[in-house]
Amino acid sequence: MLYCESCHAVFSDGRVCPLCHKRYIRDVRENDLCFFTEQPFLMASVVEDILKKERLNFVTRPVHGAGISAVTGAMLESIRFYTPYTEYAKACEFMETMFPDEEQEDCPEEQS
Ligand SMILES: [Zn+2]
Repeated sequence: MLYCESCHAVFSDGRVCPLCHKRYIRDVRENDLCFFTEQPFLMASVVEDILKKERLNFVTRPVHGAGISAVTGAMLESIRFYTPYTEYAKACEFMETMFPDEEQEDCPEEQS
């Protein structure tokens, strides 16, 4: 599997990252933090609780830079979830179980 050092996506092949279209690609290592989902601020705490109960190792980071959130406050912020590669498959499985009908959205283009 390949790993993007820019947005921490994991993917099987390609010359650029399918999420951020950058070329900071290398083979994934066991302790790499891998992006596995992005949730709206209000959903993020729900997802966090479930993942904690499942004893999954993960970290969260808010997505900054959305112009809207400057006006309306943090409520419209999104939270990105990352997990070590060793637990990445498990994390993806949980997300599919939690949101079986929802198509997993790609993370939006990086704002520069
Ligand atoms: Zn990327």
